Amino acid sequence: MGIQGSGKGTQAKLLADAFDLEHISVGDIFRWNVQHHTKLGAQVRRIMAAGQLVSDDLVEAVVRDRLAIHDWNYGFVVDGFPRNLRQAEFFLESYDLDAVILLELDDAEVIRRVLARRLCSQCGLDYNLIAHRPKVPDTCDVCGGRLVTREDDTEEALAARLRTYHEQTRPIIDLFERKEFVARIDASAPVSEVQRYIREALDLPQSD
Ligand SMILES: [Zn+2]
Repeated sequence: MGIQGSGKGTQAKLLADAFDLEHISVGDIFRWNVQHHTKLGAQVRRIMAAGQLVSDDLVEAVVRDRLAIHDWNYGFVVDGFPRNLRQAEFFLESYDLDAVILLELDDAEVIRRVLARRLCSQCGLDYNLIAHRPKVPDTCDVCGGRLVTREDDTEEALAARLRTYHEQTRPIIDLFERKEFVARIDASAPVSEVQRYIREALDLPQSD
């Protein structure tokens, strides 16, 4: 778990690669379905077009279906879920979890990181002016397209997202702390350091 910009996708992927876990990203599943025009994708598109949020039921169904494939011999690491108390309760009831990793980052650092994000207006590739700078300013390395900020990456929108995140996340963390081992990790360090802290907290070997 962790707010946007905390690197949870990156850290989940590192863990998954090193320990043969399945990396399950709810956001990726939705994006894949939208891109490949599946029935689920059409459903998500309709919901977004109406300016609504994907319902808890739909998110739960997606996670349940994904885990029911049982391709995770050594386990799984889920990112982007749960986002509210109801999803957390469903998750706790349905699966045997070893730990919850909470990537912690100050709001100020989240804002710094998110406002540094750029997106290629032509090919959609992500850039970050802190971590992944383009070779030529404002220009995509791959296609030469112009780099733009995401429409929803303004300071105002971000402040609203931070408020919602804290409101929704606090009760989830409280619930997890009563029932599971929660590893609180300082996510302000470089990627490799954060990975080292996570493995330390979970008693996992450091070298792959
Ligand atoms: Zn591009």
